[in-house]
Amino acid sequence: MTLSNLNGVPGREDAVREYVQQQLGGLVDDLRVDALGNLIAFRAGRDAPNGKVKERVMLSAHMDEIGFLVRYIDERGFLRLQPLGGFDPRNLFARNVTVQTRGGTLPGVLTPGGRPIHISNPEDRSKVPELRAFFVDLGLDAAAVRQQVRVGDMVTLDQQARRMGDLVVGKALDDRASVFMQLEVLRQLTGPPRHDLYAVFSTQEEVGLRGAVTAAYSVQPTIGIGLDVTLAVDTPGVEADEAVTRMGEGIGIKVYDSSMISTRWLVDEFVDLAEQAGVAYQLEVLSQGGTDGAAIQGSRSGVPTLTLSLPTRYIHSVTEAVHVSDLEAGVALLLAYLK
Ligand SMILES: [Zn+2]
Repeated sequence: MTLSNLNGVPGREDAVREYVQQQLGGLVDDLRVDALGNLIAFRAGRDAPNGKVKERVMLSAHMDEIGFLVRYIDERGFLRLQPLGGFDPRNLFARNVTVQTRGGTLPGVLTPGGRPIHISNPEDRSKVPELRAFFVDLGLDAAAVRQQVRVGDMVTLDQQARRMGDLVVGKALDDRASVFMQLEVLRQLTGPPRHDLYAVFSTQEEVGLRGAVTAAYSVQPTIGIGLDVTLAVDTPGVEADEAVTRMGEGIGIKVYDSSMISTRWLVDEFVDLAEQAGVAYQLEVLSQGGTDGAAIQGSRSGVPTLTLSLPTRYIHSVTEAVHVSDLEAGVALLLAYLK
């Protein structure tokens, strides 16, 4: 939950990186940060038995969340925004936000321009405003805003994470839930893993898998495993065939999304492993979307790659929700593979 509360849009992942770096103390053999801000943690593998190969396994979970940069400060001190990542404007009405300036943070309110309901006409009410119509009010006069805020400052949605039944709900479980999972794997993995392990905490996923691209080139893995969330639309108003995954039915083993087709033998290997280890899993086909796995798979001359997906309700809203038992299943499956 701490991880979800931290703020970090693409290219501004510093707070998340610092937190993860602290958590990794004593858990890894080597730790470095590359020019794109990826945090790359290394654990040396055991020597492979005769006739077997010691692979270089790269895991990747992204630290960034969707958010905004200040695009323009208007003459009255209202901020206009550049979205970073795929927002649905319907999820953005009347939101508390935080603006991260060079001197500190400022509270703000995000809302679309236009007439409120008391004075709106039926046509106004039937329209969903475009992202460009949203602005941030800081409650300050224009001069005070200009003094403190600069174009390029980060704007994030406010929402404290909380426990709700079997679910954890927060603003940035995409993909901090996988960041947590990766940390948990490093905590629970006692002794050297079966293969050389590179656990990458990547940057700028939400604007096109940019961190994972450079990380895959420097790590040069022989096997890639992306860790990200996927849709769980097991909620009212949607047919069963469009659910993609279901909450609480296990970790998703991705077969397909529009950015990658998981390497077939790795899918088979992970399915067999899950069955042997008694870990709940579900096969996932996502018609649209992409993750770090695609960047790894397409790097250099190609890398066999799989993505493990956490079923998540309400993705890209402030109420992103994951099921605790699916998180546990993800950790268990990764440990079964790496130990
Ligand atoms: Zn993601």
